[in-house]
Amino acid sequence: MKLILLGAPGAGKGTQAEVISDALKIPQISTGNILREAVKNGTDFGLKAKEAMDAGKLVSDEIVIGILKDRIAESDCENGYILDGFPRTVPQAEALSAMGISIDKVLEVYVSDEKIESRLSGRRVCESCGASYHIEFKPSKVDGVCDKCDGKTIIRKDDSPEVVKDRLKTYHDQTAPLKDYYGKLGKLETVIGQDEVADTTKLVLKAVGVNG
Ligand SMILES: [Zn+2]
Repeated sequence: MKLILLGAPGAGKGTQAEVISDALKIPQISTGNILREAVKNGTDFGLKAKEAMDAGKLVSDEIVIGILKDRIAESDCENGYILDGFPRTVPQAEALSAMGISIDKVLEVYVSDEKIESRLSGRRVCESCGASYHIEFKPSKVDGVCDKCDGKTIIRKDDSPEVVKDRLKTYHDQTAPLKDYYGKLGKLETVIGQDEVADTTKLVLKAVGVNG
């Protein structure tokens, strides 16, 4: 199954991508990772990407899709793959289709902005070891102190309320229109993110045809 996973930042899309990847034995392809790999391996598109990055430019959709095409031609993608983080805009989705990359299903993990804001604002990470906590759902034993290494737990810059609002706005402006785009093609399925991750996972697996 060739899947795209959609979801606002903080909706838990990454976690669900891992779950599907394990259940269906198909790789999860994150654009950031394959871009770094292509640059490291010095592939044709990797070199082009490096050129753009060195010049302080954004890597063009054409290059990203080229790298993506190389990646999904590898043998582990024979039975499908999960795209995570691409496409992010309708023009990117159109380019994907124009370059012959077909998609079977687009799965959206939906969580309201309100919930996302409360989830992310409660998140804390250890500045020493990176362990993550949540003041409500997964508090450290001592407030502000990491259970694992006694390091200080802090709010990531990405999780500060202003940044979260910005990230959500970008998502709604640029990425949410993909729901219409794939909806019209009859490929969109929305799963409502639950308070318990395990409950969301059940719904996600059902949506991709795995009965746990
Ligand atoms: Zn720690």
